[in-house]
This record gives sequence, C-alpha cells and structure tokens, in this order.
Amino acid sequence: MILKERTKSVNHLIYESLNSRMTLSSYEKVQYDNQVKGFLGEQVFDDCMKTCQPDGLIIQDLLLSTRDTFYQIDSLLITPNHIYLYEVKNYSGSYHYKDGMIQSEAGYALQDPVAQADRKRAYLYNLLLNHGMQTEVSSHVVFINPDFYIYAFPEQKAVLFSGQLSAHFKNLYQDITAPGHLSTSIADKLIRMHITHYRPTNLPDYSFDQLKKGIVCPNCFSFRHTHSRQTRTCLNCGAQEKISEAIHRSIEEYRLLFPDTPVKKADIYEWCGHDLSKSRIQTVLKTHYCRKQSGLGSYYD
Ligand SMILES: [Zn+2]
Repeated sequence: MILKERTKSVNHLIYESLNSRMTLSSYEKVQYDNQVKGFLGEQVFDDCMKTCQPDGLIIQDLLLSTRDTFYQIDSLLITPNHIYLYEVKNYSGSYHYKDGMIQSEAGYALQDPVAQADRKRAYLYNLLLNHGMQTEVSSHVVFINPDFYIYAFPEQKAVLFSGQLSAHFKNLYQDITAPGHLSTSIADKLIRMHITHYRPTNLPDYSFDQLKKGIVCPNCFSFRHTHSRQTRTCLNCGAQEKISEAIHRSIEEYRLLFPDTPVKKADIYEWCGHDLSKSRIQTVLKTHYCRKQSGLGSYYD
C-alpha cells in the first residue's frame, strides 16, 4: 500500500523552471539533467514496485534531517518486523569494478553508492530509535537502468540490478505478514517528519528581470500556445489547460523562485507575459490567496 507518492523536489522544480526561462551554464545543465534522470529512474522503480505489490507500507521519497544533516530516501518499504530502504541509481553505460571502486571507462570512480545507502540506513535507524521505535533496517542500492553494467562486479546482497527486482520482492513476500500497528505508526511518524520546504543553498543565480516571461506548458515547457476564452493549448505538444489553472500554476512557480518577494498583481501580470488581463489575474489571486496590505501596497499571500 502506497502511503506517500513521489513528487519532484524543490531543487528539481527550480531547475526545471530556470531551464525554460534562462540559459543555464554547462555545469547547471548537468545538474538539471541529473535531476531529470534521477526522477525518471525513481519512477521506473515505483512502477516496478506497483507491479510486484510487496506486502507492506510504501513511502516514496522522504527528506529527513538529523541535526544539520539532510538526507533523501528514495523509497521505503515498511513491514511489521523490518524496514527496507532503497537507493535508486539511474546510471547508464559500462563501468569496471577495480580496487573496490566502480570506475567509468575513463577511469573516474563513482561515489560508493553502497556506503551512501548504508549511511542513510544508520541515520534512519537512529532517528527511529530516538523516537522510541527500534526496528531492523536494511538498505539496498538499485541500479534501475537495464543499460548499466559493471564488469567484474562481485555479487553483493545490498545491490540489486533491474532484472533482479521482481525476484527480490517475491522473496520478501514470503517473509511478510500483513502490516501491523507498529508499521503503521512508524510510517505515519516518518511522513510527518518529511521536510517539504528544503531549499538547497547552491542554486544558480537568477533575478526576475533576467528571466523570460510567459506561461510555460506543464507538459513540454514550451511558451508557444494559443488560447480560447477558457482554455490554453500548447502549440508544441497539444496539451490543454484551463486558463485559470495555468495562471495559478504560474503564480506557484513565481513563489517557488522568489519565496521572499511579496506576490503583487502587477508582477504576476508581467510574469505571465502581459498575455492575460489584469482582472483575470486578480480573480485567480483572490480565489487562491489572501489579500494583504503593507506600506508598499497590497500583495497576496
Ligand atoms: Zn506543451
């Protein structure tokens, strides 16, 4: 049973928006591509879990913190007597296992994914212990992409390749009974601890003036569109959206990019590309936000 569905991280959403509104540097482009690739891999893993239906409680993507350390858990399966933590990697291509490291053809070593997953396992174990819940936790690294291969890689219990997943979940199934009271209370507690507003500190530099204005398509991020009275249609992919929803989505995108700037009608009018009337934008603002007054005029929160 899935208790929490995966959503894109704040980092991913910010890069996604900036990628359509400004030119990212080659380093930033790599960061964005990694976000997209990672998310796609996690979705493939989610689909695999849905198909295999392991008996337990599933939490997809959890951001927790212990003191000042934040850590992202890609997926958890919680059963009455055990928690399985999955670290999903969407690497592709051929690698070699040499001197205890996974190395690319060019000789660069990957950060050890097994050690990374094991650190998260220890954090999670301690976090639960601090909340009075002692339970076994094991971690697995999942190489989800079938086009990923490591030559001379010794078999490791903590590593699963995509072709091994259904057998893995089938074997778990034999050990698991229906979720009991303890697993439900652990799952509830972890979901309550999930951090939703974490903003990474190493985001690209950007400002309102430098970003391209207009509403982007929610499906393909194109600005090209046509609209009737109520509906906006993307000229690139054909996706349709109610205009009021497109405005609301754009306001949320603005708030994500500029969390410290008050939301003002004139700015949103400009943000949407001067394409829709101010009264139409005001209607959406009034529907979804509270109008407030400050020394510098009214804004919406
Ligand atoms: Zn589109």
